Amino acid sequence: MRLGYSRMSITPDYSVPLAGYGNTSFRMSTEVLDAIYTTAIAISDGKNTVIFIENDLTTSVKTITDETRRRISLETGIPEGNIMVACVHLHSAPDQWNTDEPSIQRYNGELVDAMVKNAVASVGDMSPATARAASDTVEDLNFVRHYILADGHVRGPSFGLQYDSPKVAHTREPDKTLQVVSFAREGKEDVVLVNFQAHPQIATRAHRYSVTADTIGVMRDYVEERLGCKVIYVLGASGNVQAISLIKDENRYTDHLSYGEAFGQAVEKLLQGEMKPLALGSVKAAKKVFVAKTNKEDAAKLEKAEAVFAQWSEDNDYKAAVKAGEPYGINSPYHARAIIQRTELPDREELELYAFSVGDLAFAFAPYEMFTENGSFIKEGSPFAHTIVSTLANKAMSYIASKQGFDYNCYEANTCRYVRGTAEELAEEYVKLLETVCTTR
Ligand SMILES: [Zn+2]
Repeated sequence: MRLGYSRMSITPDYSVPLAGYGNTSFRMSTEVLDAIYTTAIAISDGKNTVIFIENDLTTSVKTITDETRRRISLETGIPEGNIMVACVHLHSAPDQWNTDEPSIQRYNGELVDAMVKNAVASVGDMSPATARAASDTVEDLNFVRHYILADGHVRGPSFGLQYDSPKVAHTREPDKTLQVVSFAREGKEDVVLVNFQAHPQIATRAHRYSVTADTIGVMRDYVEERLGCKVIYVLGASGNVQAISLIKDENRYTDHLSYGEAFGQAVEKLLQGEMKPLALGSVKAAKKVFVAKTNKEDAAKLEKAEAVFAQWSEDNDYKAAVKAGEPYGINSPYHARAIIQRTELPDREELELYAFSVGDLAFAFAPYEMFTENGSFIKEGSPFAHTIVSTLANKAMSYIASKQGFDYNCYEANTCRYVRGTAEELAEEYVKLLETVCTTR
């Protein structure tokens, strides 16, 4: 087994619009707080090679990832199905969707070039490696962002709207598992893969107009400085999970620096504890096309949704839009917009699901934001000793909310393209895909 690693800056040295928070605010960057990167690892058994690319970006745009995968494949001969491009889901990175902006047209072009160059470099860097792995639960680093209020209502992220009733409990516990895989090369622990689940967006609150790798950059710097290794982070099933709680007095962290350091300390503790050897056998990749049924169940509300959305677009008053939608079961202007947009969708859409395995280590790649409970289901059902769930891989279909998310009528369900139950069906498909990879290895 051989492993290669490469990292390259993708920090724009010019002003760009920043992504995150839908289109509630247009933010041009005014400074770089810290650098953002594209990181790639390549793993080969001599016959098959897989490449995993993780970007310090908000999302994965399919046209961009398709071109990147195609070009890497052309340059290296590695099939596109063996090349995955994911992101850490920052809310302080260039808005790749905003192609009306000349700065983004420029950025997207430079981004593809950087990803290709960096991934090819990771292949060139390959040398023999062994691996060890560990996982443990960590407290206070992630929280499910749906709340039971004192008045009994269940509410999600508030988008600045103050609820009349205080939040008293989270609707559920997130998957608190932190996973690390440490690859040793030339007798030295060299490349560390970290997998956790939480929206990494704390710096962006105090530094609204900054490009920053937020908590992820701080964690990486901490671990690399302390242990002299190189870190690649994989975003797990974070769809309903935040890095900090919105319940008063529940946070130990005042900013992204203190959170990132605590995160780094948790990673360090795992790496310095009991690490189990991980057998790295043959490298496999598998793909399955899943046909998802789009959600048109509330198309009857279209006229009301159009009115709510038009009002919000005009006065930008979120609370007023929520009030206007209330009598019709329209939860927010985002919900209204989703109802409008979904009427244009075909009845069914295809999603590409991928899995890799390297001996006892497996990866499931999801092209959407997955709820924590669905990620846990995949990890628990996987026949592999160590399974990493990677979300926002190759594409961002936005949220695919769990059944519970739909039952709570939460934001992620309101804006989900697909019908209730799709998230659970997908989780089952991932387990089946991992079983297929497992039996053919
Ligand atoms: Zn998100």
